[in-house]
Amino acid sequence: MAWSSVSETLETLNPIHGQAARAESRREPNGAAGARSDWQIFEIVGLLQAPLLELLDEARSVHRRYHADGRVQLASLLSIKTGACPEDCKYCPQSAHYAKDTGLERESLLHVDDVLAKARLAKEAGATRFCMGAAWRSVKDGPAFDSVLAMVRGVRALDMEACVTLGMVTKDQAKRLAEAGLTAYNHNLDTSPEFYREIITTRTYEDRLETLAHVRHAGLQVCCGGIIGMGETIEDRARLLQELATLDPHPESVPINALVPVPGTPLEDQKPVEPLDLVRMVATARILMPTSFVRLSAGRSALSREAQILCFLAGANSIFYGDKLLTTANNDVDDDLALIEEAGLRVKPACAS
Ligand code: SF4
Repeated sequence: MAWSSVSETLETLNPIHGQAARAESRREPNGAAGARSDWQIFEIVGLLQAPLLELLDEARSVHRRYHADGRVQLASLLSIKTGACPEDCKYCPQSAHYAKDTGLERESLLHVDDVLAKARLAKEAGATRFCMGAAWRSVKDGPAFDSVLAMVRGVRALDMEACVTLGMVTKDQAKRLAEAGLTAYNHNLDTSPEFYREIITTRTYEDRLETLAHVRHAGLQVCCGGIIGMGETIEDRARLLQELATLDPHPESVPINALVPVPGTPLEDQKPVEPLDLVRMVATARILMPTSFVRLSAGRSALSREAQILCFLAGANSIFYGDKLLTTANNDVDDDLALIEEAGLRVKPACAS
């Protein structure tokens, strides 16, 4: 595709510039005037490939309009059940398919009290959202799920937002999580529908969309994003963003991950993601989903301070905070707080509800 300026791309269908009346007349997910859910693939590819400074200008402008307070959400992530997952996600060291080569130690479900002790520590360190991940294909009703519900209630009692990622959920399970006070459910689409089969064969894209529908139906916030650096094309990145940005309403949280190639997984030899590609994904996600929290997730520890600042400039306003991301290393918390302060940003408090 020929390179075109952001304004040319944007003015083609006018997502942001001008035509205020058209924007006002659209449905307004998340109560936001101008947020669209009819993004076309050529618009998104145009944004991803636009001259970088123009893309950044536009993303920054959108970000300032919708997130004028300059707040950054600090989300802490704990693996509450590690490894032995029956799925075959090629990037994941927790898959049982690659356990022989990754050497990852499996751990059964943590005790509720131990999880809540970690949540308290995360809160003391400044986190306002506590995310809990279990390496399950899907949730099974029974004692393990009951424990997760107790964890959710306990985290909410600490006045923290609670998020879980547990694999696929039924409508009833999503409802029970909502009744326990869960704030958000994470279930990523990972990549485009077209590239998906290259990465995961044990469940379908439609399975994922169905879980997202159950989560939304239960009244929970949706946390959903993807990963770059797995061998996908620019069009795949655009299709992933299109799938996310045509959900109506948009996901409240959009984690953008850069692949961390873990030895022993099928993607161990992938080239590191070019930091500016991550900046472009963040900026484009910000323009497409103006009200969402765009979260810098896995792969952040490989970024320089300058690249992270560029991501904040591009509209990232959430980070995973804490020394570990499930099973991979994350940034030092003191470094993160110093970076946030130097950038002139502020930590977002937890939502009351
Ligand atoms: S479902 Fe989750 S834990 Fe299981 S292999 Fe895929 S990414 Fe890893």
